[in-house]
Amino acid sequence: MTIHIGTGGTPKSSEDRSTISGLKRLKELGLTAMEVEFVYGVRMGSEMAEEVGELAKKLGITLSIHAPYYINLTSTEKKKIEASKRRIIKSCERGHTMGAKIVVFHPAYYGKLSQEETYERVKQECEEIIERLKEKGIKDVIVGLETTGKKSQFGNIDECIKIVKNVKGCGVCIDWAHVYARNGGKINFGEIIDKVLTLKNKHIHSHFSGIKFSDKGERNHLTISSKQPDYKELVKEIKKRNLDITLISESPNLEKDALKLKSMLNE
Ligand SMILES: [Zn+2]
Repeated sequence: MTIHIGTGGTPKSSEDRSTISGLKRLKELGLTAMEVEFVYGVRMGSEMAEEVGELAKKLGITLSIHAPYYINLTSTEKKKIEASKRRIIKSCERGHTMGAKIVVFHPAYYGKLSQEETYERVKQECEEIIERLKEKGIKDVIVGLETTGKKSQFGNIDECIKIVKNVKGCGVCIDWAHVYARNGGKINFGEIIDKVLTLKNKHIHSHFSGIKFSDKGERNHLTISSKQPDYKELVKEIKKRNLDITLISESPNLEKDALKLKSMLNE
């Protein structure tokens, strides 16, 4: 059982907003994972990525990356699809340099397409992304589809799993709060874990927070004290199955909730 808990981005109590300070602060807090946030664009150069990777290794912190929000692999505009793929590829290049295990992204919107058509297109684009990464010699970063929180977005758990089973090089990031919001405030942690465990890669990469939602799905993230969802149930399932799992806090109480979940797991 290997559990890594950390934050999406630099902890709020860090000396400054830099990734380097963030890593040092995580070490002080006793947390062992960071998801480097490129959510508003990949602005980190490769030299900094190298520095981040070296420090993380030294401090025993496992890295992942969140690719930009502005991604839609099924846009009606070809230019936007190409730009989306470039953002994912650039994130993977930095990930490769820093030794990040997975790059996660929100894949697409259904728009006017059916679920099946959306699936086919996302699959095709993912295959192309992986092909282009191979040409660059990048094979060590998982291209991770995140379970999405809005009903208008491609990426329920079954869709993500289906892509991963059919496209070698892809993986899934389970956002527990998104699954909960999409299902109108319900989640069966055990059932989702069992689905992920049918995959070749048994390590589960995941995001956690509370969430506010409407009938369309996700509204905004909350702290885990909202008990939406109730993470006590997740802790039970993790312990019962001796899971290998990474848990990234996306709560407004970023590192505080990471520490809270850690203490729940240690109880
Ligand atoms: Zn996300």
